Amino acid sequence: MKYGTLILHNGNELDPHTGALSIPIYQVSTYHQHDIDNFGKYDYSRSGNPTREALEKTLAALENGTRGFAFSSGMAATSSTLGILEQGDHVIATEDIYGGSYRILSRFFSKFGVETTFVDMTKLANIEEAIKPNTRALFLESPSNPLLKVTDIVGAVNIAKKHGLLSIIDNTFMSPYFQRPLDLGVDIVIHSATKFIGGHSDVIGGAVITKSEQLAAKIYFVQNGFGAVLGPQDSWLLLRGIKTLRARMELQQQAAQEIASWLKKQSWVDQVYYPGLPDHPGHEIIKEQASGYGAVLSFTTDTVERARTIMQNVKLWSVAVSLGGVESILSYPVKMSHASIPPREREKLGITDNLIRLSVGLEEAEDLINDLKGV
Ligand SMILES: *Cc1c(COP(=O)(O)O)cnc(C)c1O
Repeated sequence: MKYGTLILHNGNELDPHTGALSIPIYQVSTYHQHDIDNFGKYDYSRSGNPTREALEKTLAALENGTRGFAFSSGMAATSSTLGILEQGDHVIATEDIYGGSYRILSRFFSKFGVETTFVDMTKLANIEEAIKPNTRALFLESPSNPLLKVTDIVGAVNIAKKHGLLSIIDNTFMSPYFQRPLDLGVDIVIHSATKFIGGHSDVIGGAVITKSEQLAAKIYFVQNGFGAVLGPQDSWLLLRGIKTLRARMELQQQAAQEIASWLKKQSWVDQVYYPGLPDHPGHEIIKEQASGYGAVLSFTTDTVERARTIMQNVKLWSVAVSLGGVESILSYPVKMSHASIPPREREKLGITDNLIRLSVGLEEAEDLINDLKGV
């Protein structure tokens, strides 16, 4: 079966009890037990809920994993995954990681003795150099945010395997439609399902998927123990969003490519960061490890004033945090996604005051371009 069909037909799309073409929202916390000696499949919705279960199985199918877990946010998914680490463990993370992931690693997990070294993973040698005797995991994000830097995933996985490290990737930007890291040897995939998986800017959610039963047992322990589960209503919204994943990703990517090519030609644009452009430093690598380039790009303007004028003048683009919705969003990383990274660190990463990030939605590219032009 082709992937576009699997999105809709993976065995989890019908309600097993009624045949309904939409999984019902099992808005319930607890379940009657007919036999006190043999509990049924469900006993309490933190531990398991049929709507969430349909979503979790769908997520596993989409990433070609065996087990999926749905969380109350992308950060809950990331934090719960990192929760399988032990005190004294060392993590190597990509330096331009999502701001919230940077914050949780540097200011929360550090309190419990999990330390992190942030490196530029576009150079694999940097990973090798950062390995210490207590290094336990690699935390990748590719393409990264907001400069769309591409990490050679297979190269990083090979280093992880050689040193017995766990490999974890935040796959939010590509969605499982374009990139399936478990197939590249990664151990755990994380998503902010708030973004492309949900796709409609109407739900906050997170996902974790793995192929390993052993890791799945550890993640389930944290999911059930920590309790940052996704509710049934939000699980249903994600199931609904997933049905159009292919259509959205294809059209949004096409428009992103057009906008990136147009920006490249503008005299007031300094740099365009989109891995679909042939001169992007990660273009050849991403072509190998993904089937597309996604719908997020960023660019720098000649002056900070121009960046601010664009943000004031746009009418179709929402000026907002977040990405991955059917409506196009323009965001200002220094004030939004990366505000929690100290200014000096930010500058070093190239996240400057003239940088704008675009998440291209389903509007027509021509209208989106005209809006950026101020026509
Ligand atoms: C948004 C985002 C997150 C955090 O997800 P939430 O659903 O907002 O908690 C993590 N990683 C990436 C790449 C994101 O874009």
